[in-house]
Amino acid sequence: MQFIETRGNDGKKPSSVSFSDAILSPSASFGGLYVPQALPNLDKTFLEGHLSSHYKILALDFLQAFDIDIEEEILKEALSRYDSFDDPSNPVPLSQIEDDCFVSELYHGPTRAFKDMALQPFGYILSKLAQNRAENYLIMAATSGDTGPATLETFKNQKGVKVACLYPDGGTSDVQKLQMVTEDASNLKVIGVKGNFDDTQHSLKDLLASEDFKSELKDRGIKLSAANSVNFGRIIFQIIYHIHSYLELVRKEQITMGEKIYLVVPSGNFGNALGAYYAKKAGLPIEKILIASNINNILTDWIRTGTYDLNSRKLILTESPAMDILKSSNIERIMCDKFGAKRTKELMDLLEKEGKFQLTQNELASLREDFDASFSDDVECDKVMGKYAKSGYIMDPHTATCMRAYETLREQPLKTIIYSTAEWTKFSPAVSKALGQEVREDIEALKWVSQHANVKVPAMIDGLFAKPVIHTVVVEKEFIKGEMLNFL
Ligand SMILES: *Cc1c(COP(=O)(O)O)cnc(C)c1O
Repeated sequence: MQFIETRGNDGKKPSSVSFSDAILSPSASFGGLYVPQALPNLDKTFLEGHLSSHYKILALDFLQAFDIDIEEEILKEALSRYDSFDDPSNPVPLSQIEDDCFVSELYHGPTRAFKDMALQPFGYILSKLAQNRAENYLIMAATSGDTGPATLETFKNQKGVKVACLYPDGGTSDVQKLQMVTEDASNLKVIGVKGNFDDTQHSLKDLLASEDFKSELKDRGIKLSAANSVNFGRIIFQIIYHIHSYLELVRKEQITMGEKIYLVVPSGNFGNALGAYYAKKAGLPIEKILIASNINNILTDWIRTGTYDLNSRKLILTESPAMDILKSSNIERIMCDKFGAKRTKELMDLLEKEGKFQLTQNELASLREDFDASFSDDVECDKVMGKYAKSGYIMDPHTATCMRAYETLREQPLKTIIYSTAEWTKFSPAVSKALGQEVREDIEALKWVSQHANVKVPAMIDGLFAKPVIHTVVVEKEFIKGEMLNFL
């Protein structure tokens, strides 16, 4: 399988690349992204053939149907990372919360957010590729919370890859910060930046664009890659759990094979939703993908009106910070698939130059064949968390944004899967507030919710508060480069 570019080819880069090239150097011509030339076929034979398959077998067969240039042994080893999840026999369990509504829990991995689903196997593969090519890679990440811990966790002690992770000092939860600053491995560097997430992300962009930083890297023989969802190496693993979740519903005899369902996806950079779209396109019986947002509801506008307008908006901080995003990177992969590379470049150029674009009526109609969207503010999410806690189900604020979409967007009485993207333990102050008690500090909020709602705090979260802090560096923006060079 070859990969092509969302904004067309500039004549300098190759016009198509292999999977391994696409994940080692994920930036394509004109600032575009790589997309697969075709998708495997998820027909009835494939689905029925995997009704009783373990997650890892389903994943392996899917990856092989994708025909990517990674050896079977490496794929198997990468997928064995799921053995460290809570239940190795099923890394993604499904819980029922309404007669026709099920929660697919994507957070049972080491950092308690759905980022582990893709980053765990992806990290192994990237490191293996680097070793096989005798190359050294630097992964730089700016994080507001979940990507940082999951990226550090997957690459720790992996050869051929170093990770530098920047976080806004004071801009993450205590748990998220501890997950980063207590990671102890010589190939990892964590730097706190004085400023907010935007400042942190800008510093990273400036550094990546700086010619002398690039030449310093070159002198040291280090190449740059990326671990955010611009990297297709993450997206490919985010198709698999949608197939698995569908099969779970069949196994639980909630649907018969072939019956259509709705998926509700809490979205930010649209990687999770893109995985659902590819699964639908490949043949998984999905009626529609319903996109849930918080008050930063630019995706709701895009899907309901065809307008994507950054100018009329300012980022608002919410209780679901992983979705506090205005520039959603993966929508261009959807647009490329539907409208072609030429039109995608046109639209993305408009977004960069004028801060907005508008789809035509036909384009919007095509988008709405697969998607619908809605959003919830924090007050509404708190109500949802409170309501389900009463019936014994504790969910995090990101997951809570899904319920409005479930309640209002379905046009047919079909079974619905909502995705839970984080464990409540990552956002315990918001959860405790929703359950009736405002507790500021994570360590106290974890205790309160755990006692009040009779739920367990897993050892990897509980243990964080006693772990030694390894990374103490917090700097002003202008000192990041020096810190980086020291580390390298
Ligand atoms: C990253 C993240 C999301 C958003 O996922 P995208 O693939 O970027 O749309 C939602 N919830 C949580 C908890 C996350 O960590």
